[in-house]
Amino acid sequence: MNRKPKIIVIDDEAIMRDGSSRILTKEDIEVVTAENGETGLDLVRESPNTFDVMLLDLMMPGMSGMEVLEHVREIAPSLLVIVVTGYATVDTAVEAMKKGAYDFIPKPFTPDQLRIVVHRALEKKALEEETKRLREEAEKSLKDVAKEKSKTHTIINSMTDGVLVVDKDRSVALLNPAATRFLSVAAEDVIGKPVDEIEVEALSEIIMDVLEREVESLSGVSREIQVRSGEKGVFLRCHAVPVRDEKGDLLGGVMVLQDITQLKELERMKADFVAMVTHELRAPVAAIEQQLTVILKGLAGEINERQARMLRRAKERAKGLLDLVKDLLDLSKIEAGMQVQYMEPVDIGGLLTKVVDLMRPQAEQKGLTLEFEIENGLPSVNADAANMEGVFTNLISNAIKYTPEGGMVKVTGMKEGDYIRIDVEDTGIGISEKDLPRIFERFYRVKTEKTRQIVGTGLGLSIVKQVVDAHLGTIDVKSVENQGTHFTVKLPFILEN
Ligand code: ADP
Repeated sequence: MNRKPKIIVIDDEAIMRDGSSRILTKEDIEVVTAENGETGLDLVRESPNTFDVMLLDLMMPGMSGMEVLEHVREIAPSLLVIVVTGYATVDTAVEAMKKGAYDFIPKPFTPDQLRIVVHRALEKKALEEETKRLREEAEKSLKDVAKEKSKTHTIINSMTDGVLVVDKDRSVALLNPAATRFLSVAAEDVIGKPVDEIEVEALSEIIMDVLEREVESLSGVSREIQVRSGEKGVFLRCHAVPVRDEKGDLLGGVMVLQDITQLKELERMKADFVAMVTHELRAPVAAIEQQLTVILKGLAGEINERQARMLRRAKERAKGLLDLVKDLLDLSKIEAGMQVQYMEPVDIGGLLTKVVDLMRPQAEQKGLTLEFEIENGLPSVNADAANMEGVFTNLISNAIKYTPEGGMVKVTGMKEGDYIRIDVEDTGIGISEKDLPRIFERFYRVKTEKTRQIVGTGLGLSIVKQVVDAHLGTIDVKSVENQGTHFTVKLPFILEN
């Protein structure tokens, strides 16, 4: 008890009141006295929580101690009552205890007896208060937890992004309203059931991927999926991460779903615009280049050396612009899914021979050796021949472009498992480790002293990659700076029955 304890003494005998008062005041207890039951009860009634203990004489004229006791239990149930009894009234004391008195002290008593019994009561009271405080604290923190839980719940439920939580056995533990909307399911239909019940295959696959991740790799999976295909398709970007406890044991997975339908639409509009502009640009730029060729050939009249130099430069620039326009057009066509349309069995061996032959003059002009090795009787690949030609023209032309004079470019084709493997190697300037992961990005060009003079758009490899992907193939690259670069393309061939 932090405050000073307070006792009320109810006794009709002044000597008892004063005596008790003196003894207890010395104990640093505040004492209030009343000479009869009514006055005592009034004092308690006025402020039921001020007193800790009541010292109550049972034998009083007027309202008896027993009656006072009964009232006190009602007015101030937490007040501890010590009844003061005469020797002859032990039975009464027992009865008083039954009625809820906490203790009793027979009359007459010594100051020590009084001190002991009062301190015992005060200790009990202090203990009760501490218990009450602890209980209230526990209740408060439980309330806080409940409040916090409902706050988190409200936040998750009002998120515009979808949230999906699964247990480690892949059953759905939580699905917020945004997620139910995106996935067109009702939460009550799928909660507690396997995630496959949502019937979005891509989603189940991502969950599977995430839950099967190794312990060390905490990173998640991020993928775009399309749901509710048909007229109103929704594009979702899904980020999923595994959830583990502090020991690293898997608890489940959390997935956040973002609606990127509008973004996709915007992207498509941008791609359409680029396609339209490049398409419109191609004809005039081609016309400019042709006209310049005609003038340079002298077919439009004599030109002097100075004019010819300027026109040659203009023609080079127009040619560069035309290449860029062509690349952009290829790219937007591929993105629109139009390019890789004419799939047919293609003899890759024959196609490679043709491309290598076409590139040979360019290599020779630069003083490079162009080696070509192809395994006989390679099976066909289901492919768009024009696109495939583009892939290898790009790779070989890069190899030539980025290999200094005297170097070597080697092209090989062979069967490997279910794939045809084509390697394009060079002994050129190579690509640094820093740049290597980015070379398939659109417009990415390595900027070094060595590449400064080499013209290019940074689009070639991104187109190559898209075409290879569209043919269900793979492309890998290894490179060591100043030693060379090695591209490997693998394409699945047609299995003969
Ligand atoms: P670019 O039109 O610039 O050649 P690409 O997309 O074909 O564009 O290639 C991207 C970048 O990758 C190039 O700018 C170049 O820095 C690098 N690169 C591609 N092929 C090779 C190669 N065989 N050797 C060295 N660097 C290469």
